[in-house]
Amino acid sequence: ATPTALMVGTGRSAKMGILIKNGEVLEAVNTIKTVVFDKTGTITVGKPKVTDIIGDEQMVLDVAANLEASSEHPLAAAVLEKAKEQGITPNAAQNFKAIEGKGVQAQINGKKAFIGNDKLLDNYNLTDQLTAKMVQLQSEAKTVVIVGYDDKIVGLIAIQDAPKQSSATAIAALKKRGLRPVMLTGDNERVARAIADQVGIDEVIADVLPGDKADHVKQLQQQAPVAFVGDGINDAPALTTADVGIAMGSGTDIAIESGGIILVKNNLLDVVNALELSQKTFNRIK
Ligand code: ADP
Ligand code: MG
Repeated sequence: ATPTALMVGTGRSAKMGILIKNGEVLEAVNTIKTVVFDKTGTITVGKPKVTDIIGDEQMVLDVAANLEASSEHPLAAAVLEKAKEQGITPNAAQNFKAIEGKGVQAQINGKKAFIGNDKLLDNYNLTDQLTAKMVQLQSEAKTVVIVGYDDKIVGLIAIQDAPKQSSATAIAALKKRGLRPVMLTGDNERVARAIADQVGIDEVIADVLPGDKADHVKQLQQQAPVAFVGDGINDAPALTTADVGIAMGSGTDIAIESGGIILVKNNLLDVVNALELSQKTFNRIK
């Protein structure tokens, strides 16, 4: 590889909003066979909105907002926005504890409270009716969080985050080039499948704890070189483990630092453009 050709490739790409850290990264892109995508903020817009509240709306939102007041998770922002709309001002809960990949536990008025997925349920019991409702909402591609207070389930909150407009087109283009797209997410399997269906991804690895994303990338690497595309704090290890780490420009600082490529426009079509660029650059050099 000659440095001049690489400069041309990376200079042109920068104008398109594809920042490539160095020539080795651009060269590695050409070897990729599998492209693994994070869901929230990568395939989806990353601006989740509350769509449904099951239970006493005021009560559910009150408990939920007090818990999420200290959380930095995108789901927390959705809950707090909805609470604000309803005129609820949260009082931050005590002894706040964020539990990675699961939710939040804290105390409200000296009572235990939580918000999150079923991994946090412990000895709480979801009634058959609530379970059925949860399954239905998840099939509609909505993330469902359970709200618990004082050893009782208070209700459910469904939160929707739509795919970016470009996601389906980008996935189709990748498939056309013979690449294998995979979704890797901490969200529930049913929700992940529903979103994957919307954008044309057949392979879904769901319910993955943040610490385990990199391990899944390693497993996929045993078959062929992998690019990982992500935006979150929890994506950083996967971004560095992959043969090529591609971070969203809208992502967290740590994700951006961990990526070999940064997509300034947050558009998944630029994954395809990066592939094309690498191919052109290295076919010309050869
Ligand atoms: P992702 O891979 O989509 O970024 P995370 O690992 O951040 O997912 O979270 C996985 C799941 O954990 C969420 O879908 C949600 O069920 C639960 N969760 C995590 N943090 C919170 C929170 N602050 N409030 C409610 N639920 C949460
Ligand atoms: Mg994400």
